[in-house]
Amino acid sequence: MAQVSVKIPTPLRSFAGGAATIPVEGATVGEVLRRMTATHSGLGRHLFTPEGKLRSFVAVYRNDEDIRYLERDATPVKDGDVVSIVPAIAGGGEVDLRAANPLVVTERSVAARARTRSLSKDETLRYSRHLLLSEVGVEGQKKLRDAKVLIVGAGGLGSPTALYLAAVGVGKIGLVDFDRVEVSNLQRQILYTTADVGHAKVDVARDRLQAMNPGVQVIAHSEPLTSTNAMDVLRGYDIVIDGTDNFATRYLVNDACVLLGKPNVYGSIYRFEGQASVFDARSGPCYRCLYPEPPPPGLVPSCAEAGVLGVLPGIVGVIQATEAIKIILGAGEPLVGRLLLFDALAMSFRELALRKNPDCDLCGPHATQRGLIDYQEFCGVPAVGTPRAPSDVPEVSAEKLAEELNSAEPPFLLDVREPEEWEIAHLPGAHLIPRLELPDRLNEVTGARLVVVYCKSGERSSAATKLLLGLGFSGVRNLRGGIDAWAKQVDPSMLRY
Ligand SMILES: [Zn+2]
Repeated sequence: MAQVSVKIPTPLRSFAGGAATIPVEGATVGEVLRRMTATHSGLGRHLFTPEGKLRSFVAVYRNDEDIRYLERDATPVKDGDVVSIVPAIAGGGEVDLRAANPLVVTERSVAARARTRSLSKDETLRYSRHLLLSEVGVEGQKKLRDAKVLIVGAGGLGSPTALYLAAVGVGKIGLVDFDRVEVSNLQRQILYTTADVGHAKVDVARDRLQAMNPGVQVIAHSEPLTSTNAMDVLRGYDIVIDGTDNFATRYLVNDACVLLGKPNVYGSIYRFEGQASVFDARSGPCYRCLYPEPPPPGLVPSCAEAGVLGVLPGIVGVIQATEAIKIILGAGEPLVGRLLLFDALAMSFRELALRKNPDCDLCGPHATQRGLIDYQEFCGVPAVGTPRAPSDVPEVSAEKLAEELNSAEPPFLLDVREPEEWEIAHLPGAHLIPRLELPDRLNEVTGARLVVVYCKSGERSSAATKLLLGLGFSGVRNLRGGIDAWAKQVDPSMLRY
């Protein structure tokens, strides 16, 4: 028996008593995980299917190697080994980079365009600190000027990425975003100021970037990226930066990049942790090689639900900008085939090896996927920008609930948000059970004849309502629009977040 430590990612720590690392004994990775989940049953439900198979949106590593490329469950462990659980978060073979490095092709094509015009007097002055670096120099600066980079998402990750790419003189920068600036964005989305609230992000961003560097061209794409337009939009750029906050767009960006043969500079953030990599299927793995399928909707909370430290997207976004610049210059070692994990609380960086999955449906030798698919359906979510589909669970409006709470038989109010959200505001008389803890705390709901479930906006509570109904509870309804609808329609004095 070997003594190993299992690293628990933040989304799953609440099922491990808050522990970041659990010491476990075992001879193989499978045995270690089974022993651990025997004492932490909540973890087991998230890691394994009911049939006992490891879920496909969870990657397990022994030290820095993915167990899928070792002996899977039977991978042996020895004293001191670290077993890491790396789940997909919204918001990753030994690759021989020198053998047939397509990044060099990118470099050549950029270089060919770069020969056209020498640097002007203004450019020489503006970029003088770059010109002093032998890795950049005049030729490198011309490559930057002739490069075309698309940033998908002008939010937390897109802000620092766009600011630095414009500052260093990347000649054409595309921004895809259809949101407007909200007050709650300003804690981390440093492209925007308080005066910008209510304005379209891409318009504000374009003006800000052009003001900083009039020498770069900024293209605002204010439509959502979809299977219909993605190929056309991406075709006009050399490099794509994924700064999105949802799985549907991540898979769309990945697939379009693989089909077009373009590098996808990936970054994602969650609470205090970040991930970064460069997915380039021509020389390494794609995002699907790491996570063939997304987690079911609602299992991994978004940053809007779970929160994110303000500086975290700054750190990860700057890593993405750095990788894009390196690819343009053809300098250094790109993050191809490596997943960088950053933990702000521990202030630590770790690196895991990513291999190209020979069975990848998209980039493997026997790939079956030849085009883009319906990503909303693939990820089980309603399409962005379209009206919400009629709910498939019984619902109640905020006004109706207010009436019912004053009636002779008020319903039992079940709040399925996190304790931090409860601290900001909650409905009087409500009972708090965070959604992911609900399966283990059903006894607290048993006995209630009428139940109304609520969360912030109605999504998590809809999943909880479905769960309760599926388990045989009756008289359960979802509060449509969540506590946010209550604050807007019933109690305007309630704090919103
Ligand atoms: Zn792949």
